[in-house]
Amino acid sequence: DLAGAPDAGFAPDARSAPNDLAPYWMPFSANRAFKADPRLFVAADGMYYTTADGRQVLDAMAGLWCVNAGHNQPRIVRAIQDQAARMDYVSSFQMSHPAAFVLAERIANLAPAGLDRVFFTNSGSEAVDTALKIARAYHKVRGDANRVKLIGRAKAYHGMGFGGLSVAGIPRHRRDFGPLLGDVDHLPHTHDLAHNAFSRGQPAWGAHLADELENIVQIHDASTIAAVIVEPVTGSGGVLPPPVGYLERLREICTRHGILLIFDEVITGFGRLGAPFASNALGVTPDMITCAKGMTNGAVPMGGVIASTAVYDAFMTGPEAAVELMHGYTYSGHPLACAAGLATIETYEQEGLFDRGPEICAAWEEAVHQLKGAPQVRDIRNIGLLAAIELESRDGAPGARAGETVNRCFDDGVLVRVAGDNLVLSPPLIITPDQMGQVVDTIRTALGEVA
Ligand code: PMP
Repeated sequence: DLAGAPDAGFAPDARSAPNDLAPYWMPFSANRAFKADPRLFVAADGMYYTTADGRQVLDAMAGLWCVNAGHNQPRIVRAIQDQAARMDYVSSFQMSHPAAFVLAERIANLAPAGLDRVFFTNSGSEAVDTALKIARAYHKVRGDANRVKLIGRAKAYHGMGFGGLSVAGIPRHRRDFGPLLGDVDHLPHTHDLAHNAFSRGQPAWGAHLADELENIVQIHDASTIAAVIVEPVTGSGGVLPPPVGYLERLREICTRHGILLIFDEVITGFGRLGAPFASNALGVTPDMITCAKGMTNGAVPMGGVIASTAVYDAFMTGPEAAVELMHGYTYSGHPLACAAGLATIETYEQEGLFDRGPEICAAWEEAVHQLKGAPQVRDIRNIGLLAAIELESRDGAPGARAGETVNRCFDDGVLVRVAGDNLVLSPPLIITPDQMGQVVDTIRTALGEVA
């Protein structure tokens, strides 16, 4: 009985304290530790969060690598509100709404030439699983049903679905979940401090590591391999920019053997490298791009696969009444997400975030490398508006020093993230030089205190 219910049940005041923290099983969190000392955020604007205890925190993570244009952008807020009032939902199976087509066209226009077909999902994990399924089905429709093997890479993060987990390469993520997809192999990662410590942008050393793909192809035979998936810049595995020439070699080997190349651009897509996609910024075009996060500036869950015309066309040769790809989600192309996506692209363009990218990224590189020589810093890596500050591992407690540093930064008003022994940074693209300075100074102070 809606009429009789207390208002608070329907419009809870975001600032009111919850009575009981126990029922919410939080993802990727130490639930007991969190609930003993909860960290709650109640508002966000531009570069800042407001915490429940009224503090302003500078967001050096763009939420979780997603709020690329800064928080609560008015154009995006209005677009979501307007769409919610006009039409809440329509199925995307055998029907649709205009904004889904307009958004697909806008995204195709941003992506490198030849990547022109957009399949909508609700997250990066779904985008990855979708791309892996498309890869297998693509070979099957072309009469190559033996091509089922999927090649990922060590240190990769591709979301939490069984498919993404299978091709990913962060051991502790896989540990508890039993057998994953078979028919998977992994390339080596490109992290190498002996050759590349403190390099700026793409490291000079390591293109030859891509040649390991040639060995994998020899072992399994090209006729069994469907696709290779890599993040063009490894993100959650510790921000590892690709060595100069590395992605080009992967592209060449895949093309030569008829293997599809998938770039997981869930982090690097929509401006993170100062261009719409890493593929544009780095000049290497895969057969499919997976994206999410910055697609809606984090405001509504959405992901997608941008596929080449050639991949799409392979599915379009059967009977016209047939469903070409037996795949999709209830909320694929959700009206609210499409409205947010369109307003997000407009915001990036109006604010010049793609055009100003190279200038902001150069200032960022200068800023983060000022931490060279700070206590315990063994490497600094950067590309676009991403960076990792890698710390010496404390004996027997990997990640502990980074964890303590990040907590001190938070207490000092800057939100930074941990990935293993790395402090990782991924601020909104609207960050100013002064704010870059604040991030660096806060980290330097925190490192001094932890040391
Ligand atoms: N791929 C990459 C490269 C990611 O960084 C992430 C999320 N951090 C995902 C996939 C999964 O995205 P989601 O959490 O939206 O499922």
